[in-house]
Amino acid sequence: MHRAIVEVDLAAITANVKKILKSTQTSVMAVVKADGYGHGRVEVAQAALSAGALWVGVALLEEAISLRTHGISSPLIAWLTPPHEDFDTALKHDIDLSVSSYETLNAIVEAGKRTGILPRIHIEVDTGMTRGGVLGGFEEFISEISELSERGQIDVVGFWTHFARADEPRSDFNQKQLKEFERKLTYAESHGVRPRLVHCANSAAALTNPDSYYNMLRLGIAMYGLSPDVKTMGSSADLGLLPAMTVKAELQLVKDVPAGSAVGYGGSAITERGTKIGVVAMGYADGIPRTANNLAGVFVAGKRAPLLGRVSMDQFVVDLGESSEAKTGDHVIVFGPGLHGEYTADDWGSASGTINYEIVTRIAARVPRLYNRGAALH
Ligand SMILES: *Cc1c(COP(=O)(O)O)cnc(C)c1O
Repeated sequence: MHRAIVEVDLAAITANVKKILKSTQTSVMAVVKADGYGHGRVEVAQAALSAGALWVGVALLEEAISLRTHGISSPLIAWLTPPHEDFDTALKHDIDLSVSSYETLNAIVEAGKRTGILPRIHIEVDTGMTRGGVLGGFEEFISEISELSERGQIDVVGFWTHFARADEPRSDFNQKQLKEFERKLTYAESHGVRPRLVHCANSAAALTNPDSYYNMLRLGIAMYGLSPDVKTMGSSADLGLLPAMTVKAELQLVKDVPAGSAVGYGGSAITERGTKIGVVAMGYADGIPRTANNLAGVFVAGKRAPLLGRVSMDQFVVDLGESSEAKTGDHVIVFGPGLHGEYTADDWGSASGTINYEIVTRIAARVPRLYNRGAALH
């Protein structure tokens, strides 16, 4: 057994994808950027495709290329495409590319000429997120795209945008963005640009706003079984999702300490009574947030043992309680689906001033991933 491991329940991934597909005819793009939100991009992509997802999406070109070299042959898009990228390689691997600037558009067209491969592009429009996407000069951009498309230099596959507040389902901002999206789509379509695929919904929109579906959902966090926002949308259980990631670690040392012991760097926690502590074999170098407080901890022998003091680079301390029977060498659950009382990625997020997305994506590469491909664990 390893010092620490990430167990990934691929059956939970397929169950989550199927749950979304059950309620709609819209196709699903499995979003596996950041190594599949820490779960492993290739394994997650395979599981999602087997469950009926038709597309795979990533941020970086290198992530897309890695999926291709590991045998993923579905339609595949990379949407972070600065102009210096190696678009020749992207085209040779049949990777769709998102475009928000002339610089990137021109570089892709040049790559198309060099390779003799027709580039497949998706136009990203900024409808209020104020991050990626075309904003100023939209009309001229569309006329350039239309000309390139007529000359057979690009294939306009998609037209898309991204929501800033989909996890606040009641915010007017969502309808505002959709209206702006609709206006831009109508303009493009009436000026010679006819994308086959229109997509804007992330998980939060997929779970709350059918008006945003068009012909594809870009499904990330919900596919991993996590809630886009626990406060506004409820927990995984409330949403009928199964968290796929369980993190386990070894208690590398269990020992009794007296009352008044100052624990860890800075002695930020002091034991109130004599207790048994467990030293857990993970730290911030493994992705356990240093900012976590005692609302997080580990689950051992059917009980929660809260974090004690600051998280170190490779270890942290938990309060097992005086009567605990935990022993050096036992394995504990750092977080999991939460169905048996263990802490969840949501708990670790709220104990660290962050969100479940950051908890799962930051579990370090040095922690091995183990895959359960069988029936759902729950
Ligand atoms: C990450 C990402 C998604 C998925 O978002 P979730 O909230 O995880 O569903 C969708 N679209 C784009 C452009 C993204 O970057």
